[in-house]
Amino acid sequence: MTIAQALARAALLTASDSPRLDVELLLCHLLGCGRTYLFMHPERELDAGESEAFEALLARRRAGEPVAHLTGRRGFWTLELEVSPATLIPRPDTETLVEQALARLPDGEYAVADLGTGTGAIALALASERPRWQVTGCDRVTEAVTLAERNRLRLGIDNVRFVCGSWFEPLDGRFSMIVSNPPYIDPADPHLDEGDVRFEPRSALVAGNRGLADIDLIANGARDYLVSGGWLLFEHGYDQGAAVRELLAGLGYEAVGTATDLGGRDRVTLG
Ligand code: GLN
Repeated sequence: MTIAQALARAALLTASDSPRLDVELLLCHLLGCGRTYLFMHPERELDAGESEAFEALLARRRAGEPVAHLTGRRGFWTLELEVSPATLIPRPDTETLVEQALARLPDGEYAVADLGTGTGAIALALASERPRWQVTGCDRVTEAVTLAERNRLRLGIDNVRFVCGSWFEPLDGRFSMIVSNPPYIDPADPHLDEGDVRFEPRSALVAGNRGLADIDLIANGARDYLVSGGWLLFEHGYDQGAAVRELLAGLGYEAVGTATDLGGRDRVTLG
């Protein structure tokens, strides 16, 4: 089988939203190359071992496993992150949270916290753009903290530290900004039975009170961890903007507003 023939096998991934990209990423992972190489060498033959490994990856993808779990990697912001089934897979929607956070504070000596950091995606993206911020990423899951720390070391980003504990528990002092992409899916949402989310930890996805329980808890607690005039930013579901604005305003947050993601849907609310 040649690279061109392998790419044509994308037609088998009928349940994927991005069959061609999926196959390209699987091939790059297998051959240790970039996507350009695939287009430059369509006639390159896969050897027997490569073909067999490719078919095995394709079969797992057909069974629904996320590409990021098959390659162990996912691009987020300008970074390539290691991912694992222990955490949520970083999503493009979450880049809206990074953009909004960067727009709120210039570079300077600010303390910033990312609650429920998972792979460390948000914390690392912020720290890479703002070298003088001191970013703390925290997660309750030990495997997430060790994964985030591996990402930090591999990327050589010095101004982040990762700590283990539930929400505010491992934090000291006050922060100029607290960001979080907490679990926010309603446990009854049928979306939980489709696509990548089936392979991600429920604890990273689902929250009680129609998905708002953790946002509520963090918004309450953050008042004791923010400096005066500090910012709180959440990612949330496209239909939760009004509820999160109401929640923040009710707790005394000011300048409450919502930003939309690339699809034009409510995605990040801040105050
Ligand atoms: N946006 C993700 C999804 O709907 C969920 C992320 C989260 O719960 N924090 O698949």
